[in-house]
Amino acid sequence: MKCQEKVWYPTAVDAEEARRKMESKSRDKQRAKGLVVYHCRDCKKFHVGHLRASYGKPKAETPAPAPPKIPSIGDLKRKVRNLEKRLDAERRHAAYVIGKIVSKDREWLEAEAERARIEADRAKDMADTLAIAARLYGG
Ligand SMILES: [Zn+2]
Repeated sequence: MKCQEKVWYPTAVDAEEARRKMESKSRDKQRAKGLVVYHCRDCKKFHVGHLRASYGKPKAETPAPAPPKIPSIGDLKRKVRNLEKRLDAERRHAAYVIGKIVSKDREWLEAEAERARIEADRAKDMADTLAIAARLYGG
């Protein structure tokens, strides 16, 4: 609910008086007990309302947070072992990937070498052809 729509009181005493009236008139005693007077940060006046939306809810229903579990030596050792296993797997995978890259590089280098060899052969053939032509036609 927006502040402007709420009933407000100029002083805490006025608000407290109103709260007590509400409590005595209320049919829902459980709910009325949750009413509080509070100073409003928005309008700087006093309102009567419920601190929480979950008024009347017994506190016992909210379970206390479980205390942090302290790991045993065995737990820690198991954790370290699992971590090492995972690191090993990651290292193995990295080695595998690097191996793949290296073999692809090697394939590429071999293909490049083959292409260079073919180029050299072609250049030599061309030189031979030119030499023959020069001999035949007296270049
Ligand atoms: Zn207000």
